[in-house]
Amino acid sequence: MPNPARIQSSSLEDGYTFGVSARAAEFPFVAGQSSLDFLNTRPVVRKQPVELLSTLEDFIRWLGRAGAIDPRAATDALRRWGNGPEGARIAERARSFRETLRHMIDGIVKGRGVPTEGLAAINFILAENDGGLRLERHGGGFRTRFISRPTQPIALLGHVAEAAAELLASRDLRLVRRCGNPDCVLYFYDTTRNHRRQWCAMATCGNLMKVRAFRRRHRRRG
Ligand SMILES: [Zn+2]
Repeated sequence: MPNPARIQSSSLEDGYTFGVSARAAEFPFVAGQSSLDFLNTRPVVRKQPVELLSTLEDFIRWLGRAGAIDPRAATDALRRWGNGPEGARIAERARSFRETLRHMIDGIVKGRGVPTEGLAAINFILAENDGGLRLERHGGGFRTRFISRPTQPIALLGHVAEAAAELLASRDLRLVRRCGNPDCVLYFYDTTRNHRRQWCAMATCGNLMKVRAFRRRHRRRG
């Protein structure tokens, strides 16, 4: 698997699917649902999967970008678990949970239903979650938000498990989609009014597929 640090932005011509820059800081947040954004931390670039969660630090940075951990808790978690074998173990755990979720979401998209192992994996992490609800003002009303305060490493996965539970319990699963570019592996939740969103991002896959369709038409005429 290529090292994300060495992959530069590439052009549409390469069959490129998502912008992974040298700093690898640009996690794709295009899904509109946090558990799908989490799945998208292993995009495909030039037909090669790229791992964006190589270390615990990567995972904590992703949690920060997702608004799922406050900076103090993030610094704390990195100091306690970051450099030792524990940090490597949590990163591995995050990747393996991601692949369990991928299997589940892929099944949903293909109409196979939700496997019991997927539910069990989510419930296992929910049972170990640390933190509490915070009541916030939201759009003229109120909402509650679960704020993670992990006292044990597995609780770092709590946000992802909650997001996956929210997807299953509260969303319309027919609107979970995989990008229409066959070389792309990104998922999204289609919140467009007419539910016809096809691409992870118009700027990358949408334009690429339009260019390909144009060339096909052009070749036929030539
Ligand atoms: Zn795509």
